[in-house]
Amino acid sequence: ALPPPSGLTRTTCPYCGVGCGVLAAPDGRIAGDTEHPANKGRLCSKGTALGETLDLPGRLLHPEVGGKRASWDAALDAVAEGFRRAQSELGRDGVALYVSGQLLTEDYYAANKLAKGFLGTSNIDSNSRLCMASAVAAHKRAFGEDVVPGLYEDLEEADLVVLVGSNLAWCHPVLFQRIAAARAVRPSMRLVIVDPRRTPSAEGADLHLGIKPGSDVALFNALLAHLHDHGLTDHAYVYAHTQGLDATLTAAHADAANAAERTGLNPADLATFLRLFAETPRTVTLWSQGINQSETGTDGANAIINCHLLTGRIGKPGAGPFSITGQPNAMGGREVGALGHVLAGHLDWSVPGEADLVRQHWNAPNLATSPGLKAVDLFRALGAGRIGALWVMATNPAVSLPEAEVARDAMRRAPFLVVSEVMRDTDTAAFAHVRLPALGWAEKDGTVTNSERVISRQRAFLPPPGEARPDWWIIAGVAARLGWGANFAWPDPAAIFREHAALTGLGNNGTRAFDISGLAGLSDADYAALPPTRWPVPAEGATTPRFFADGAFPAGRARFVPVAHKPRPEGDGHLTLLTGRLRDQWHTMTRTGGVPRLMAHKPEPELVVHPADAADLPDGSLARIASHAGASAVLRLRHDTGQRRGTAFAPMHWTAERAPAARINGTIPPAVDPVSAQPALKSARVA
Ligand code: SF4
Repeated sequence: ALPPPSGLTRTTCPYCGVGCGVLAAPDGRIAGDTEHPANKGRLCSKGTALGETLDLPGRLLHPEVGGKRASWDAALDAVAEGFRRAQSELGRDGVALYVSGQLLTEDYYAANKLAKGFLGTSNIDSNSRLCMASAVAAHKRAFGEDVVPGLYEDLEEADLVVLVGSNLAWCHPVLFQRIAAARAVRPSMRLVIVDPRRTPSAEGADLHLGIKPGSDVALFNALLAHLHDHGLTDHAYVYAHTQGLDATLTAAHADAANAAERTGLNPADLATFLRLFAETPRTVTLWSQGINQSETGTDGANAIINCHLLTGRIGKPGAGPFSITGQPNAMGGREVGALGHVLAGHLDWSVPGEADLVRQHWNAPNLATSPGLKAVDLFRALGAGRIGALWVMATNPAVSLPEAEVARDAMRRAPFLVVSEVMRDTDTAAFAHVRLPALGWAEKDGTVTNSERVISRQRAFLPPPGEARPDWWIIAGVAARLGWGANFAWPDPAAIFREHAALTGLGNNGTRAFDISGLAGLSDADYAALPPTRWPVPAEGATTPRFFADGAFPAGRARFVPVAHKPRPEGDGHLTLLTGRLRDQWHTMTRTGGVPRLMAHKPEPELVVHPADAADLPDGSLARIASHAGASAVLRLRHDTGQRRGTAFAPMHWTAERAPAARINGTIPPAVDPVSAQPALKSARVA
């Protein structure tokens, strides 16, 4: 890459899984990085406003113990003592870490090493559980490993792009801009939106399928049956590289018989979609939270993958299933194993010998021996007294978890809660016994991985404010106080990255896709200058931009997964509440909420309903919604004929501090996908 223009630092946007390259300066100048493959110079409204978030009011600038300012020594001593005490009273699994896709890969790696390697517990889960756990589970079921086969260029090279449960125009705007630009050059390229809402992504699309919530499995089962019945099966590929088709087709045909009724679609629209997909070999199906955040999220993702396996449309230019992640480094967390059910480096407890490789690499005789608690269960265990010490890093579960009141109550009663944060007064930090000031975006140094497997450097261009420190440094400080200093004696993030990269090559004879052992020997200078780099980067052998066109699956053969539509309740006088993001806001608004021009887009939380579902409430009324969980929220009502009858939409951003009555995830029951344990944040029934 070319050196950045004078005074600018080449770094990465912290907001979403597109992972755009940014040029940034301490005086607030921001520009898209034309050298970065994800955005090629583009930025969205949030990225463009990054310069207005550098001087956030309300930063946490000093460690605090018991609400009082403390030295780092005293704070780290308190954390170590709290964790030691909890484990002596409750055993190894009496402690937990709840971390975040906001962490850099090096921070994530250090947290996972502390938990699984040295505290000896797998009770470490990430807010990525709320975001893409169903995609991870679907990849593992189908391919044998969590791998996104394609890259963003495929979205431009496709002749048909299908967006499922993704308002890409608002949630991953630069990727949507890339698709729009490709369509402008090549008008024959088709765009289909599958979403109960007519979102901004549907404007200008060739077809919008306003599907019933939760009927994605039925839609893609109908598609699988249609493709097979119309001779579109790639028999050579299926025969040579897959298994399980017969049982999967039986399940698919059962749903296909009644697909229009199951999906709530106009039969003509459904037929158009089936025909478009069938006649277009270069098809990318991209999915996001509309699939993942569901009690059938993993099945929905596998239903999509099944269609691509059947037709051999995978890992080819312009063709493949594509999961897009929400957070900037959700992928990095998956890579280092910072979820309760996986080891580091895509290694797996279920594969003989792989746990030993991690144990030896870390010199960690007490390595956890089995998977740990996942987000919702982790906070339940806290509430039930089975977790005596919890450390929350860079996330706000008091707002973002389903049935958030239950999590708040658990944290309020927690014997020992540590919060590492950029901001002092988050809803979660209010319950903390120890608050640890962490570095923010402009001050941190490390790497992130975006949705197309590109590892990018995030580089500091501002000095640490107050006494804030890197997350990895804080974790290493606690580890040292617990007696493991030699195992965490990294001088800088480059050393952590090398250790992480070396681990990914252990025992890999070419069957594991994730391998960056070729980066394990980076010098400090190479690491500092690392250009955006797509994995795999094996120490030996060739790299590849895409996976699986050759049928070389980590599982040996790819697996078709039989899935069946599960009808949801409807017609009982309730609405199905769909939740999601707004164009100009990020998560719980800690950063974007302070920028007036971003707030101007949607200044207050709105409940969007079809006018026929709220005929007695004029547009602009205040509306209270009440869920089966007995929780409620109050929002400004807005009529929109693009909202599917029987559904409502509300944004998930507002916190107790900004709008206590509009914390929407408090109204969501804690149901989870049984395979991935991802909360079904889009399935509340509300009155
Ligand atoms: Fe940042 Fe995502 Fe916008 Fe790119 S698309 S500038 S990564 S928020």
